[in-house]
Amino acid sequence: MKIIMLGAPGAGKGTQAKQIADHYSIPHISTGDIFRANIKQGTELGKKAKEYMDKGALVPDELTCDLVMDRIKQDDCANGFVLDGFPRTIPQAEALENALNAIGQKMDFAIDVDVPDDNIIGRMSGRRACLNCGATYHIVSIPPKKEGICDKCGEPLVQRDDDKEETVKNRLSVYHEQTQPLINFYQERDILRTVDGTRPMEDVFSAIQAILGA
Ligand code: AMP
Repeated sequence: MKIIMLGAPGAGKGTQAKQIADHYSIPHISTGDIFRANIKQGTELGKKAKEYMDKGALVPDELTCDLVMDRIKQDDCANGFVLDGFPRTIPQAEALENALNAIGQKMDFAIDVDVPDDNIIGRMSGRRACLNCGATYHIVSIPPKKEGICDKCGEPLVQRDDDKEETVKNRLSVYHEQTQPLINFYQERDILRTVDGTRPMEDVFSAIQAILGA
């Protein structure tokens, strides 16, 4: 099963993508996580990506597309994968479609986790992340057991630079301009499904399971 998660930054698509990956035993491919891992390791890609990410801008397509195309060709993707944060532009969606067409495949579902803008800013300002293991929390809806400390690895939690308010506003306008057109793109291909992302996390996941089956 090959799934794309769509939705504004902070809509909860990452949390849902992780659950889908666990439930259906397919890899979770997050371009944001890949860039953050590169930043942490100090790679050339990481240095270039950080310039854009810190401003809330998108990393250019030429740095992003090959990365994903290489990843989805790996053996663990043979039974499918869930893409989280990619595609984010029409050229990225076209690159993905062309790469899959070339091997006689296509995406099965694009799931839009729909949340109005008003909700997003509050949600994102409460987000906390562990830079060591990648776990994410929310001070209200998914708090860690011990305040400010990662449940999984015990490292301190931080607010990501790109979750700060000014950056969030910028990311939202980038989302509306560049990523929202993907909703029509996948609607035209008849694989778009929408879930109400304002519902509690478990309900959103149940709605997704109803779409994907089993
Ligand atoms: P995310 O963790 O998915 O919210 O991504 C964090 C940041 O990484 C975004 O604000 C972008 O700067 C960058 N990024 C992640 N995925 C992409 C993508 N598919 N295209 C361009 N930039 C991306």
